[in-house]
Amino acid sequence: MPTPPLAQVAQQASRRAPGPAALSAFLDDLPAVLPRDRCSTSPAARAAASRDYAYLSPLLSAVLPDRPADVVARPATTGELAAVLRLAHAHGIPVVPRGRGTGNYGQAVPLAGGLVIDLTRADRVLEVGDGRVHAQAGATFVALEAAARATGQEIAMLPSTVGSTIGGFLAGGAGGLGSIEHGWLWDGFVHALDVLGCPPHEPWRVTGADCAPHLHAYGVTGVIATATVALAPARVWTALLASFPDWARAAAAGRELLHLDPAPRLVSLDEPALIATYPPDPALPAGRHSLRAVVTAGTVDTAMRAVTGHGGHVEAVTPDAVGYLSTLSFNHVTLRARKTRPELCHLQVGGEPLVADPDAVRACLPGAMLHLDGLRAFLDPADPARGRGFAGLLLSEFRDAETLYRGVERLRELGVHVVDPHTWQLGGPALPAIRAAAATADPDGLLNPGKLPDPA
Ligand code: FAD
Repeated sequence: MPTPPLAQVAQQASRRAPGPAALSAFLDDLPAVLPRDRCSTSPAARAAASRDYAYLSPLLSAVLPDRPADVVARPATTGELAAVLRLAHAHGIPVVPRGRGTGNYGQAVPLAGGLVIDLTRADRVLEVGDGRVHAQAGATFVALEAAARATGQEIAMLPSTVGSTIGGFLAGGAGGLGSIEHGWLWDGFVHALDVLGCPPHEPWRVTGADCAPHLHAYGVTGVIATATVALAPARVWTALLASFPDWARAAAAGRELLHLDPAPRLVSLDEPALIATYPPDPALPAGRHSLRAVVTAGTVDTAMRAVTGHGGHVEAVTPDAVGYLSTLSFNHVTLRARKTRPELCHLQVGGEPLVADPDAVRACLPGAMLHLDGLRAFLDPADPARGRGFAGLLLSEFRDAETLYRGVERLRELGVHVVDPHTWQLGGPALPAIRAAAATADPDGLLNPGKLPDPA
């Protein structure tokens, strides 16, 4: 159970909302630093810039304040971003940086009104080098992948929300396609960041491990103006869809696929009840477990043998379904399942029990269903395939917070790692470093108020 209750956190954060005089003075000065057509106080623009996919959580939907930002600014350069931040700081205006608003914990939702800085106009790919790409924060993964492929490379990892931005992914995401081979954000994906505080307003560059406090920090440690991230040699990918009579055989085949060389870009596994929430697809036969993978063209035969060797049936192999499979992975599953069954609620889970004892895992919550995605839990340089396993989602019928968090306790007793997606408050082992970096980059607490929990 998140503490203190989120409604209280939202209430406390709202006290940072700007007063009418400060807001009016800020709006008077804003046109001097940003063209009028790149700022907006229209109710529609403010409302659109003040929501994300938090509605996927019945708990967050109930406590997120219905108080949009007061103004939206769309800087296109680092210089414009610095000028807007300097002005907001001078007037004491809270700031929430934003990409495409596809975060799903409410991390891009302003809790104190103020200014949303929408970075999507700052979207240029600045340079593609050997093994890395440097881009403005608002660049999307569609643009990054296209720029990389033009040089025979591809982005090493990307979220299933391919239209989202690199700045938003680094500040609000964790991993996705490519994580079987390359791990997570913290595993060497980020080479460098140019960050601006509130103050210091001029950008400073962080590299390597020094990027860590800015990753999955919701912008509280500074606004990312540009990022340099890892590329890998481009591969020719194809999609494989298979079905199995039971979880055990599907999971055993899935584990074998994880160890293909080159590694797959994605391996996902669904049970029949979850498949029933997806649009009908002959390659996802009703009543059967679905194993899906994005594999290199050169490993397709090996992958097909793994499927049949574990009693499965290959339903389809086609390069045309690679994009489709990404929309059946990670939190796209939550989005799809809740569209069909809005009573569902998700948890992000990991650990061996998901594969070894799925019935015990499902028994922790009413009507629970499992979805798995492949990942690299740790890197053993001597044997890169050793650290590959599964994490995923547990979707269940939502009753109330009490039932959900009692289920979380039971899951943890089973040895399941649970990441609570029903809180916008930062947490976990990175919190002390994030807190220390925020103290330097945001001494007045103007960046994304309410997301960094008060020290215990
Ligand atoms: P936003 O949602 O706009 O922002 C995310 C966070 O970053 C917010 O806290 C915001 O304040 C902050 N922020 C944005 N830009 C900046 C900046 N320039 N500097 C500092 N802070 C900034 N996530 C994954 O990791 N992997 C997945 O596979 C994945 N799949 C998803 C599927 C669905 C259907 C949905 C709804 C979400 C999924 N997500 C996933 C979460 C989210 O889509 C991704 O993390 C996405 O990359 C966020 O990018 P965005 O541009 O939408 O960021």
